[in-house]
Amino acid sequence: MKVILADYSGFCFGVEKAITTTFEELNKESKNDIIYSLGPLIHNDQVVEDLEKKGVKVIEDIEMLEEGSVIIRSHGVPQNTFNTAKEKGLNIINATCPFVKRIQNIAKTHHEEGYTIAIIGNPKHPEVIGINGWCDNKAIIVEEEKDIEKLQNIDRLCIVVQTTMSVEQYEEISKKLEEQVKEVVKYNTICLATKERQAAAENLAKEVEAMIVIGGYHSSNTQKLVDICKKIRPYSTFHIETAEDLPMDLLQKYQLVGVTAGASTPKWIIKEIINKLSNI
Ligand code: SF4
Repeated sequence: MKVILADYSGFCFGVEKAITTTFEELNKESKNDIIYSLGPLIHNDQVVEDLEKKGVKVIEDIEMLEEGSVIIRSHGVPQNTFNTAKEKGLNIINATCPFVKRIQNIAKTHHEEGYTIAIIGNPKHPEVIGINGWCDNKAIIVEEEKDIEKLQNIDRLCIVVQTTMSVEQYEEISKKLEEQVKEVVKYNTICLATKERQAAAENLAKEVEAMIVIGGYHSSNTQKLVDICKKIRPYSTFHIETAEDLPMDLLQKYQLVGVTAGASTPKWIIKEIINKLSNI
């Protein structure tokens, strides 16, 4: 079997930065100190388990902490989480991805200028919850077309989009939103890493017989890669987390297989999977 890795795959700039920042902090701390991460640092169970062994404990709520260091992961958090952490005197290690920070700033400034903020994205995703928290939780979250009905009596609208949405979804939904409101400013805030990964996955899926998409089952950007590959290879796209998940029986019949990986997938997992596939 011949295996081709997509031109862009694996750790993105923001995740790489969050991991590096965390390791720098771990090296600073004395051995007994624990660093807390507000939610799993990245959407990859293997990496999160490894970090836990090294002293990074995942907590779900800032209220659980009274002292120590807390990492804000690349998805970012609402403004009031920062305020609470400051009030408690916690040491804040801010690993918010600069691309996410930019959206938070757009939401905040436009909200202060009187715009209603529309976030195209998944309302349950921490990045979207975080962005909403920078405009007083007043944003309208539009995940699909039917959510557009939520826009009633709005004069000025500012549209932003979750960094990991597909360009296609953004274009479709933002166009419909524009038809509803008189004054609209829109920002395509899908990050470059996402665009590159999606385009590379799409191109590769057209070239090969089957696609392997590596990444956490709960990872939004990985799921988008799966959707893109499935559009081209509906019956031969396989989403896996680790080498053990490879459907070896089903893969035997293919001669040319493509591999891509979400932004939270470390190189060693990609390498292990490519090696296993190459041996078929
Ligand atoms: S996917 Fe983009 S926005 Fe998200 S952490 Fe990576 S670089 Fe930052």
